[in-house]
Amino acid sequence: MRRLLRSLVDFHSTLAPPLKTLFAEKAGSQNPEVLLFTCSDSRVVPHLFSSAEPGEVFVVRTVGNLVGPADEAGKGVGDVSEASAIEYALEVLGIRDIAVCGHSNCGAMRAVKDGRQKYKAVAPNLTDWLVHAEASLLRNDAVPPGTSPEDALAMRNVLQQLQHIATYRSVQQRKAEVRLHGLFFDIGTARVLLFESDKGTFVPLDEAEVSRLLDSTGRA
Ligand SMILES: [Zn+2]
Repeated sequence: MRRLLRSLVDFHSTLAPPLKTLFAEKAGSQNPEVLLFTCSDSRVVPHLFSSAEPGEVFVVRTVGNLVGPADEAGKGVGDVSEASAIEYALEVLGIRDIAVCGHSNCGAMRAVKDGRQKYKAVAPNLTDWLVHAEASLLRNDAVPPGTSPEDALAMRNVLQQLQHIATYRSVQQRKAEVRLHGLFFDIGTARVLLFESDKGTFVPLDEAEVSRLLDSTGRA
């Protein structure tokens, strides 16, 4: 906590002054283009790797970047806050791009892989929460060569959570407009991979790959 308090003082004295104009412009409203679900892991810093300014990415962080699915009526059966974020992002903010970002060396994935019931006595809430990743264990989606079993689960879990998001009413009602994206952050190499449905696997994001994707979709 000592370090956090010191950082807040530093923020006020060094980082905040050059950002004052930007924050003043954003003070009245936000206009994010993307709803991003990512893990609470302290090494995953989405605003760093997305180079996003304040107001550009609407972020929800959960343990394991899990999103509980919705029921047949499209109402969330997991965390109400997450379900609210989906509704707010789509219904109020007009967001049409939703991404889930998993990451390497994820503790939640390790617990799922080990068998979440092992943690029931000490972490009953966590054990219950991880149920939303159980289906990820049954997936067999292709992963890049050399991916560890744990990271492979994290990648497949991203796709599983996107599948859950697709069940929400706000998403169902906008099937033609809403675009779902899978991302994976490899901490050790500081590289972000994108799930490419054409290839059926995660690929490293570089200039060439982004140009190819934008050309194929006609989107900027
Ligand atoms: Zn994690």
